[in-house]
Order: sequence, then C-alpha cells, then structure tokens
Amino acid sequence: MTSPTASAEAGFGPEAPPALGLEGVTKHYGPTRGVEALTLSVAAGELVTLIGPSGCGKSTTLRLVAGLERPDAGRITVAGGVVADAGLFVNPERRRVGLVFQDHALFPHLTVGRNIEFGLDRLPRGERRARVGDLLDLVRLAHLANRYPHELSGGEQQRVALARALAPRPAVVLLDEPFSSLDESLRAQVRRDTVATLQETGTTGVLVTHDQTEALSVGARVVVMNNGVIEQADVPEKVFEQPATRFVASFMGDADFLPAHVHRALLTCEIGIVSTVPGWADSDVDVDVVLRPHEVALRPAADATARVSSVEYHGAFVLHHVRLASGRTVRSWQPHDVRYPVGTAVAVSVAAGISPTLLVGNHAVTSPPSNSIKLGPNPAGTGRPRHHTVSSEVPR
Ligand code: ADP
Ligand code: MG
Repeated sequence: MTSPTASAEAGFGPEAPPALGLEGVTKHYGPTRGVEALTLSVAAGELVTLIGPSGCGKSTTLRLVAGLERPDAGRITVAGGVVADAGLFVNPERRRVGLVFQDHALFPHLTVGRNIEFGLDRLPRGERRARVGDLLDLVRLAHLANRYPHELSGGEQQRVALARALAPRPAVVLLDEPFSSLDESLRAQVRRDTVATLQETGTTGVLVTHDQTEALSVGARVVVMNNGVIEQADVPEKVFEQPATRFVASFMGDADFLPAHVHRALLTCEIGIVSTVPGWADSDVDVDVVLRPHEVALRPAADATARVSSVEYHGAFVLHHVRLASGRTVRSWQPHDVRYPVGTAVAVSVAAGISPTLLVGNHAVTSPPSNSIKLGPNPAGTGRPRHHTVSSEVPR
C-alpha cells in the first residue's frame, strides 16, 4: 500500500468516490437484452478493459455511461454524482464523460486544433488556446495543428480523437474499440501511446476491445461480458489463470476441457494424474478440467495412445493438436524448433506446478461442491499447503 498522502493524491483516498459506478444497470431494446443488472465500480485513475463477443453489450454499456441511452433500471454515477437513475437523467454534455470511437468521428471541416477545441466552449478564449496547445503537445501533434483530418494518418487521427476527448478534463474517458480500424503494424504503437497518455494525465478509462491480448495487456482490470452480463471483473492474471466461468476460460485464451475426477484430493483425467487439490481430501466428484496449450507437455512415446493430429507453425511457437484415445483433442504449444509429425504417438501431461481450473457445470470451483463430500476423513490428504502437479503419466 502507498502512504495515505500518496493515495489521496492519486484519488484513492477512503473518501474518494469511484470515478464511475454502475449499480444494477439494465437496458433492453424491445425484446433484445442490451445489458442486464450490470454492477461495476471504476476507481479514479484506473484503466479498465471491457471485452466480450460481438453483441454482448459493450457499446450499450458505454452509451449508457455517456448518456446516449437511458437505462431501464439501475443507477450510474460519475465522480460520485448520480447521472442516471429512476428519476434523473443528466444530458451527455453535462456528464464529464469523454468518448473515443473506432472511426475517430472527427469533424472533417475543422482543423486538428479546432477539433480539439470543440468541447471547450465554456472556457474563455485565452484559456481555450492554452488548453489546445497543451493537448497538442501531449499527443505530439503540435506540428499538425492546422491540418484537416483527411490529411492525417489513421494513427494521427486517433491521437486527435483522444486529445479532443481529454480536452474538457473529463472524469472518465470511454474508448470503444479505438484501434480496430488501424492496421496491425500501427495498432501496437497507437495503443502504447494511448495508454501512456491516459496514464500521464491520470485519466480514468474504460476501453472496449474484442482482442484478448489487448484486454489483458492494457487493463489494470479486465471486465469480461457475455450476453449482457459481467461474467468476471478482475486483474488480468486472475481472469486468465483463474477464470470464474467456462465462458471466461474459453473466451480469454485457448482452452481445452476434459472430463476429470477428484478423489481424495487427487485430480485425474484421461491423460492421467493432473495434480493434487488441497482441501478436497474427502471429495469424490466429477469435474471438468481446463487445460491451456502452454500447460500441456508432450513426449513422443511409442506405446502412447494419443496421436498428433495437426501441427500449426506460428513462428515463435508451434501449436500441436493431439487426439486422445477418447477422441477428444487437447492442444500444446511447443518451442519453435519442435515439430512432431502428424501421427506421432505422444504421452500427454500437464507441466509441473500447474493448478488447473476446475469446473462444475459452467462455473469454476475452488472448493469442493457441498454435495461432493462423500468420503470419510482422510488425514493423509488434508492440510496440504499447495496445489501442485505430482505426476504426468497415465497410470498403468
Ligand atoms: P457490442 O458492442 O458488445 O458488440 P452492443 O452493446 O452494441 O454490443 O449490443 C448489445 C445487444 O443490443 C445486441 O444484441 C444488439 O443487437 C442490441 N442493440 C444494440 N443497440 C441497439 C439498438 N439501437 N436497437 C436495437 N438493438 C440494439
Ligand atoms: Mg460495440
């Protein structure tokens, strides 16, 4: 923890309200669910990424916060002040919310400087000029102040859009897939610039993306949505390593699911013993185990029943698809110089030290389901300090 002074300066003091709060926010479009009972709090200065499949409600969420939609139910606060609830609706221009869209939406007939100045009409003229100058410096576009949008590259247009959104000192900036229209080579640089600018200015941001790597690498917290609801909101490591649901496990990175069983704290599946599960000593329960390709090890073994079924060269790594005896498939990343030919018999195991996610139904479980405790106490299996991989071989 930082000192009280430092945290107060950063806006995280105990009395500082969240920069953005949603409580039970619901929006339907006729019979179509936009979002359902969304509850989320974003701290001042925090950058959150919002990710989910197309149509899951990401843009609806941003539009509700910006005031472009009215919620059917729930409450939205910005910097501690209510901007929408059952009896109140604050207009977009009075919300202190900045917006950056995928297509930049710059005014084509205004210069870069005028575009940035657009939302500053409440400032006296002199202050306006100074503010525009500061923002041009911030996004390194001072030399292009008199150009028109069509005279700029995609990345430069994106920087103008960000500067325009930041100019009125919003409490929150919302970015809806801001890099989608940029080509791959430009994207990473513009993304780095954007994040740096938000951090430099201490701006609270919600960034929508459909790119898993972007969500994990940019967000201090990642909010995963599906079908109008939040499935998980947590730090990137938790979302990836401890997904809360089957959907999050499969959406945030590659995952294969195998039927598995926990008996006396030992997790086994088709590939053998996977790990021990501390606290599950008395359990005898069916689960599904989530395996990520980077966790799955392969070793050629003439007597193995699993076979390499396809191989994809990705450059730095080579993705091997392996068909198990049951017909199920698991995937394994191998180093760039390893390529087992299709048909190779391989022993499949889980890399040492992995504590895979276990699912019962669609939800991850970290403790035994209450109806799974069927066995008597097993003193030898209780109280283990860590969940660790104990073996990688199929028991014979
Ligand atoms: P996302 O941005 O995650 O792709 P949206 O928030 O745009 O998703 O949409 C969520 C759902 O609401 C989708 O089913 C979409 O078709 C629907 N929707 C969004 N806007 C409208 C609208 N103006 N009228 C009717 N349905 C809409
Ligand atoms: Mg959208």
